[in-house]
Amino acid sequence: MKPTPELQSTVGQRVDLIDTPALVVDLDAMDRNIQRMADFARKHQVRWRPHAKLHKSAEIALLQQRAGAQGVCVQKVAEAEALAAGGVDDITITNQVIAMPKLHRVARLAAQLAARGGRLGVAVDHIDGIERLAEAMAQSGSDAGIDVLVEIDVGQGRCGVPPGEAAVPLALAVSRSPRLRFAGLQAYHGRAQHLASSVGRRETIAAVVRAADHTRQLIEAAGLHVPLVTGSGTGTLVHEAASGVFGELQAGSFLFMDADYARNEREPAQPAFEHALYVKTQVVSVRDTHAVCDAGHKSHAIDSGLPTVALLPADRTLRYANGGDEHGLLYADAPDARLPSLGHMLWLIPGHCDPTVNLHDFLIGVRGGLATGTVERIIRVDARGALS
Ligand code: PLP
Ligand code: MN
Repeated sequence: MKPTPELQSTVGQRVDLIDTPALVVDLDAMDRNIQRMADFARKHQVRWRPHAKLHKSAEIALLQQRAGAQGVCVQKVAEAEALAAGGVDDITITNQVIAMPKLHRVARLAAQLAARGGRLGVAVDHIDGIERLAEAMAQSGSDAGIDVLVEIDVGQGRCGVPPGEAAVPLALAVSRSPRLRFAGLQAYHGRAQHLASSVGRRETIAAVVRAADHTRQLIEAAGLHVPLVTGSGTGTLVHEAASGVFGELQAGSFLFMDADYARNEREPAQPAFEHALYVKTQVVSVRDTHAVCDAGHKSHAIDSGLPTVALLPADRTLRYANGGDEHGLLYADAPDARLPSLGHMLWLIPGHCDPTVNLHDFLIGVRGGLATGTVERIIRVDARGALS
């Protein structure tokens, strides 16, 4: 039987009764993170278009929009479709879409969103991609347009043309294609987000800003206005926001944070984003040397490291070690430390928030704190597994 949220948790239930393993959101902390981001963006006069690859939920996307977010970013056409079905109508796919069947879906979605007064955007980095997109739009039977961002590779070494001259013919080709609107530059440096040192991030983004600005100037010298430079993530947003070049921030993880972001040196000017996403787990076995809990790497992603054990009494620490798909091993490293007892509930902060959410059908939203709060909402992960 496929798990339903009712089996695990019901609205109004006390937090200690949520069955495990469960993905739980501290709604008070999430709301504070949204407010911090909204205040930060307002202060720096940049737009924020949070990346929904994190939460994959229309409900959360709309919550962020009500707080001032421009819309959402997604990586996948299927994510865009799932969020559009849930009422989100301003969506940018920050990624390349090349297959014709997918491009037909993009064209259909662009028409749907335009009919609702919304918009769709997509990134390109090759003339063939532009031509394919133009062909799909021409065949769509609608006169709706689509925003097209030319992606430049500002150092991540993933998609994008090199900054500079290579972007100019692409921008011009977009501007000459009927139904394609040249919307600016996509300039995201993913690895920079996770650099441990604050100086490393600052220096890396200084080069990103120079590359993006130079590219923008070349396109404008060719006679085409560049309406927007967009990119950035949770690790570096203070730098893009202060750059005067970036007009939009795509950060996503700030909403939940994770153990990987917590390990890195904090940016002094960064809003004080706090952890809001936890895996609740229960101790199911206790040995002399360790305890075992019921959350393994089918409950949380481990690509950026193992979870940390949160919300312990001040005099206690526990180390989580990988116990396989379904189990976690808990060690109390200090000689006088105690292991948790059988049945004890623990809270894990996942190493990487985005792929962790994708492992769950629902987020259990708790109000009033994780010690004594209650379940306020059960939030569907609408685009779970939406990979195409
Ligand atoms: N923009 C793009 C293109 C991304 O791929 C990502 C995340 O991988 C982000 C923005 C958001 O970054 P973060 O979740 O670290 O804030
Ligand atoms: Mn991530």
